[in-house]
Amino acid sequence: MSSTISLIRCSTYEREEVDAAVRRAIALIGGISLYVRPGQRVLIKPNLLKAAPPEAAVTTHPEIVRTIIRMVREAGATALVGDSPGIGDYRKICQRTGILAVAESEGAKIADFSEAVEVKNAGRFQRFEIARAVAEADVVINVPKFKTHGMTVLTGAVKNLFGCIPGKRKVQWHFNSGVDHGAFTRMLVELSALVKPGLSVMDAIIGMEGNGPGSGDPRAIGAVLAGVDPVALDVVAGALVGLGPEALPILKAARDANIGETDLARISQVGDELRSMQVRHFKIPPRDHTEWRVPDWLRRTLKEAFTTRPVVDQQHCVRCGICVNHCPRQAIHYGKSGLVFDYRNCIRCYCCQEFCPQGAITVGRGWALKILRA
Ligand code: SF4
Ligand code: SF4
Repeated sequence: MSSTISLIRCSTYEREEVDAAVRRAIALIGGISLYVRPGQRVLIKPNLLKAAPPEAAVTTHPEIVRTIIRMVREAGATALVGDSPGIGDYRKICQRTGILAVAESEGAKIADFSEAVEVKNAGRFQRFEIARAVAEADVVINVPKFKTHGMTVLTGAVKNLFGCIPGKRKVQWHFNSGVDHGAFTRMLVELSALVKPGLSVMDAIIGMEGNGPGSGDPRAIGAVLAGVDPVALDVVAGALVGLGPEALPILKAARDANIGETDLARISQVGDELRSMQVRHFKIPPRDHTEWRVPDWLRRTLKEAFTTRPVVDQQHCVRCGICVNHCPRQAIHYGKSGLVFDYRNCIRCYCCQEFCPQGAITVGRGWALKILRA
């Protein structure tokens, strides 16, 4: 697999600028005809996490998707656009994110991810249930959004492919992995190798920092990235904000599984110079320190102190019940004075933080982490 990654400066979502940046990014890694052939069915997979407008930076911007649809059609192929958000009405999400309007105006169909097929896998996880629309596509073009994430620190090209697992089946993976985040990130990299997108194009023009992936703050990154290897693409994206593979659990899992290229020095970069595009003081969620090498008895004793945890701002909570109903461990309930978390049962998957429509849940620190940070 080629680990050449193109990095193109782009600071606005003006149609002409986005079009030029995406086309240049793909031209520098061989051109669209290298990845898409006439007559093929091409599934374009943006990040459609929830029904948010493009300027909220929660979802892949429709102008990026527009150019990719155009390029796919210019190559003589059929374009479909699809994702499987964990919660919410899919059609409303497509409308609110601007993806439906772009698909309709550019002659692409919206793919339905509700039907699953079982696909065998040669890795640690023997089978995955993925959307039929993904399994039956001739080519998948992965179009992630650059954002922070409570569990994986960043979400990019590898994590975006988790959306190929239909709807609530995703929650089952969180449930099965439990507190073993290493198992979860290993699953993500094996899934990315199984789906094997022909091409990944990242929307990092305006990314998200802070309380991502659903409720963080938009942050100008100013880049479009493209490449075949989603792992290598995430390495370059991390480097843009000063995060190396050792700080990013998905990349650590990729290195352990020997999937993709995790060494920045071995990735061939083309386009604009990475060093001149680096973003300073990028805000990431608090990080967990459960991997510190301490004796088991001490780890058990201090688990609560050294792990991050979901915390709710009761003032912002409107008691919609979404987090309560979607927690894979049923670790949230209503108490007398608001939401209560059962931290002993909580597996720190941060689905609640991801899904909360009010941004009322954030990643908080245990007491020892607070002291260490002070
Ligand atoms: S999802 Fe958010 S707003 Fe809804 S009950 Fe949970 S914390 Fe409150
Ligand atoms: S409380 Fe939140 S972080 Fe904990 S298991 Fe439930 S959804 Fe995951």
